[in-house]
Amino acid sequence: MQSQTQFKRRFSFEFFPPKTDPGRAKLQNVRDQLAEVHPDFFSVTFGAGGSTRDRTIETVLSLHKQGISTAPHLSCMGGTREEISELLDLYKANGVNRIVALRGDMPSGMGASGEMRYANELVEFIREHSGDHFNLEVAAYPEFHPQARNAEEDLKNFVRKMKAGANSAITQYFFNADSYFYLVDRLEKLGVTAPIVPGIMPIVNFSNLVRFSDMCGAEIPRWIRKQLEAYGDDSVSIRKFGEEVVTGMCEKLLKAGAPGLHFYTLNQAEPSLSIWKNLGISGREKIAF
Ligand SMILES: Cc1cc2nc3c(=O)[nH]c(=O)nc-3n(C[C@H](O)[C@H](O)[C@H](O)COP(=O)(O)OP(=O)(O)OC[C@H]3O[C@@H](n4cnc5c(N)ncnc54)[C@H](O)[C@@H]3O)c2cc1C
Repeated sequence: MQSQTQFKRRFSFEFFPPKTDPGRAKLQNVRDQLAEVHPDFFSVTFGAGGSTRDRTIETVLSLHKQGISTAPHLSCMGGTREEISELLDLYKANGVNRIVALRGDMPSGMGASGEMRYANELVEFIREHSGDHFNLEVAAYPEFHPQARNAEEDLKNFVRKMKAGANSAITQYFFNADSYFYLVDRLEKLGVTAPIVPGIMPIVNFSNLVRFSDMCGAEIPRWIRKQLEAYGDDSVSIRKFGEEVVTGMCEKLLKAGAPGLHFYTLNQAEPSLSIWKNLGISGREKIAF
């Protein structure tokens, strides 16, 4: 963890682009609540295969204009170089200076994979196209990417993204802090000294969490799964237990020197905010640890 302690901590919240007017109004309200704790940035996801392209743009520009730096996620799966260039130009023209650069996934049933195959090619392309304008975040996987040939290859592939010009990384969510510590230590040995920011998933709904976790290869430890199962439909107890577990893990991460936290909000303010408040992250100094 040595390499991680040198960075100024940064805190961010991730949203998905809403589809409907009520969804937009809800996100605005969530944005306003989260803006009060002065995060360093917001980010907005990009649907598989570019399926939310226009809504991602609209959401990013609307949030960015309101004063908190907002980073679009951008995936290369399914997109051409020309389409990606247009997006980069548009974001640059609107003062956006951070991008979460991903390979992405194709929606099921769609075959075409676009002109770039992996995120390292996207990072390289963005650097060629826009020089150093964008601060580039990439994805990291403490429990390894589900399609990786093996753990070693996955680490080497991560290093390719850093060498291609990424500045820092945000991890897939996890509930076992040791997987993050191990990842950071291994990457340090491979020469990566950039910030690797833990991605944090508040626990709100058990069946959704199981579904997401199966898809993205994040493990729910047995003791957490069993306890959540035991609560059945008791959503108050699920939230309370989830908040305690995730707060405890965040405390451990920050105490060990993690360079901030990135919250997967799922467009809800309260679950992330309660963890934030439990941690005592406050004001611009943001930290007690
Ligand atoms: C912080 C974060 C945000 C995300 N946001 C979104 C989003 O907005 N929209 C979305 O659709 N998805 C999103 N995802 C999910 C992500 O798109 C998927 O996990 C996707 O399957 C992999 O994307 P990647 O950028 O990690 O891919 P890559 O880094 O390209 O890795 C994908 C797989 O290919 C392997 N690999 C990588 N490079 C090479 C290479 N050069 N040669 C051979 N093998 C290689 C890797 O080991 C890995 O198994 C996000 C994930 C994270 C962690």
